[in-house]
Amino acid sequence: MRFETKAIHSGLEIHNPSKAIIPPISPSTIYEIGAAGRNSSDLHYTRLANPNRLQFEHLIADLEEGETAMAFSSGIAAGAALLQGLNPGDHVILPEDVYAGNRKMVNDIMMRWGLKASFIDMTSLKHIEQAMTPDSKLIWIETPSNPLMKITDISAVAQLAKSKGLLTVADNTWPTPFNQLPLQLGVDVVLHSTSKYFGGHSDILGGALIFARQNEFTSRVRTIQQMGGAVPSPQDCWMLSRSSRTLAYRMRGHNEHALRVASFLDDHSRVKLVHFPGLESHSGHDIAKKQMSGFGGMISFLIEGNQQDAIDIVGRSKLIKRATSLGGVETTWEHRQSSEGEGSITPNTLIRISVGLEHPDDIIKDLEQAFDPR
Ligand code: PLP
Repeated sequence: MRFETKAIHSGLEIHNPSKAIIPPISPSTIYEIGAAGRNSSDLHYTRLANPNRLQFEHLIADLEEGETAMAFSSGIAAGAALLQGLNPGDHVILPEDVYAGNRKMVNDIMMRWGLKASFIDMTSLKHIEQAMTPDSKLIWIETPSNPLMKITDISAVAQLAKSKGLLTVADNTWPTPFNQLPLQLGVDVVLHSTSKYFGGHSDILGGALIFARQNEFTSRVRTIQQMGGAVPSPQDCWMLSRSSRTLAYRMRGHNEHALRVASFLDDHSRVKLVHFPGLESHSGHDIAKKQMSGFGGMISFLIEGNQQDAIDIVGRSKLIKRATSLGGVETTWEHRQSSEGEGSITPNTLIRISVGLEHPDDIIKDLEQAFDPR
């Protein structure tokens, strides 16, 4: 079945005895135990499982072409659960410009519990190999990276990791499975902040892990999901399933509009450099073309001038909202270093834009006036 069809039909039949075309929200926290005693297939208690979470997990596993999935209360919670599945003393290799919140989670929480980590330039296999230690267990890929839009060759890294017995995880939040399928390229786990394109309307916080195969490690992470307790509500899972039904069509729009906005920015005299893998001039364009079927809706760019000029440009937008996060139907942008705060390695003239689904002419008109106010 093709992506669009799976997105619309997958997961509907799970715990849906009335065969409702749209399964209802199940707010109950408890489920009745059979008269003969507890059965392993009982839902039992909502932290362990509930119909809406199982429906969404089935749907996202299908879309990422994995064997099993777990939904969490946020993207960070999903990443933390994955790392908690490792042992104290294990070493993880991450991109130097990994999403700033994940860097903070690793540095401030996981490392205090004994995890070791190296943050490196992941665009080079040589650097990855050099960063490996006898304790290395996991390579964390984020491509395109946030916010520098660096491209990592997923299948090359997965192959290298396999040859050394390491696991790989790919944060697929930005491209979404509509544009990129890391499990098909050899990665073991896909991570999502479903707060972004899966939610798609800037009104849900969530995360997910999708595993290529069900195995002992998966069971350990499942225990962390259920007993760590960072799970999404049935309402949020229901909303996520609902918005995932239109993911393909929203991503087509994001892909198309971002390409137009990136070309506009690339030609503008006040823009010094555009980071967007869809541009032929981007250093990762050839690899991106190989592993992505579309380039997504995210762009970052450096302006000519200084930090205050960048803040002023963002401050002048009228249609484009000044906000962090991404993946909503509305276009948003931000002076990224200000959002990342202490420890940010983002250049102070960088603006990050999440291109939405308004008419691209209107987005570009607002950018024009923000660059050149009259
Ligand atoms: N991964 C990426 C690429 C992100 O951009 C974000 C959030 O911005 C996260 C993970 C974390 O997700 P959440 O905010 O849902 O915890």
